[in-house]
Amino acid sequence: MNKITKLNCCRICNSKNLKKILHLKDMPLTDEFVKKKDIGKEFLHDINIYICEDCFVVQTQHDVDVDRYYLDYQYSVAHSQKANKFMKKLAKNIKTKYFNKSSNKSVLEIGSGDGKQLAEFKKLGFDVLGYEPSKKLSEIANSNNIETINDLYTKKSINYFVKKQISFDVILLTYTFDHLPNPGEFLKMTNKLLNDDSILVIEVHDLEKIFKNNEYCLFEHEHSIYLTEKSAKKFLKLHGYQIIDFDLVDNKDRRANSLIFVAQKIEKNKIKSLPDVKTPKEFNDLKYYLKLSKKIRKGISNLDNYIKSKKECGKRVAGYGAGGRGVMTLAALKNSNYLDFLIEKNPKSNAIFSPGSSLPVVNLDHLKNNSVNEILVFSYGYIDEIKKDLSSYGYNTSQIKSFIDIMSFKNE
Ligand SMILES: [Zn+2]
Repeated sequence: MNKITKLNCCRICNSKNLKKILHLKDMPLTDEFVKKKDIGKEFLHDINIYICEDCFVVQTQHDVDVDRYYLDYQYSVAHSQKANKFMKKLAKNIKTKYFNKSSNKSVLEIGSGDGKQLAEFKKLGFDVLGYEPSKKLSEIANSNNIETINDLYTKKSINYFVKKQISFDVILLTYTFDHLPNPGEFLKMTNKLLNDDSILVIEVHDLEKIFKNNEYCLFEHEHSIYLTEKSAKKFLKLHGYQIIDFDLVDNKDRRANSLIFVAQKIEKNKIKSLPDVKTPKEFNDLKYYLKLSKKIRKGISNLDNYIKSKKECGKRVAGYGAGGRGVMTLAALKNSNYLDFLIEKNPKSNAIFSPGSSLPVVNLDHLKNNSVNEILVFSYGYIDEIKKDLSSYGYNTSQIKSFIDIMSFKNE
């Protein structure tokens, strides 16, 4: 059983001035698929999202003990062409923008997965080191000669480097920083591993984009904080960093919802010209968050009503995409059981069910003997690719819907 620790002050500024803006009941972990005999035994807990009225960082106020969970974690984006292209771009842009004339620079990636991103740095002549809690993923990385320490990155890890007087030119976290229970402590400690010219590169989900697309599915137990450019800037400054770049990678080359920033330690006597923050000013207004949260509730009920109306007309509907988006979107619905099954191109294993919604996860070939009238796509970022795959099973584009479109139907 996963242990839950409750907090009662802001993760960033310690204020007690927190307001709940969203409540999602009985939500699972995104990757804890279950076998039939274990349905109902998976971890479920409410997700409450708060905003700190002092620093305006959106956050959860509970930590789930996930050490064991990450140990078995196997999520990897290595198969996606778009993701591979992004990794190449990220390494290349860091090299050309910050270390063009220098060689033998070092990169530490925290949450380095199967080492694919570090491999791109290695190709450009960087010395690379990874930190990865998943045993399986770190084994893959090491077998490909990407040196990877199989452990959670903690205070102990940082002290080890400090003791050995090891510093890094680049410390990189892609979709890891917002998983840390105490990101402030991380910033404070990591400071010791950075030189004056070193850069800290962080990619997280952009809260502004989450709200724009109504993607409540990104409010996960695994995420502790949700940042905008503005709150990131403030947060990092509080811990002795300045953000020097929000445009490291073009938006078109990024993954959905990506916010990337490059930070350096604040140097007392050196004033740099810093980039403007593009976050709209409403993001410093509690009322605005309550409005966005209401829009999400409406979106959830739109999805529920849509699925119900199909069922009432005798139509069969399947979901598509058993990633975090699919799992969390379904878990918040009342009517997820009206879907027939959840399609995934490469299911993690056979005969598994989605946590929280208990839908059987099947591969595309399942459609051969189990046709449906409509397919509701959760992994909408890949919808063109998905439409192509489904066309060879006889589905036309009018039968394939993105859940984002259904959620925003007649919204506002
Ligand atoms: Zn705060």
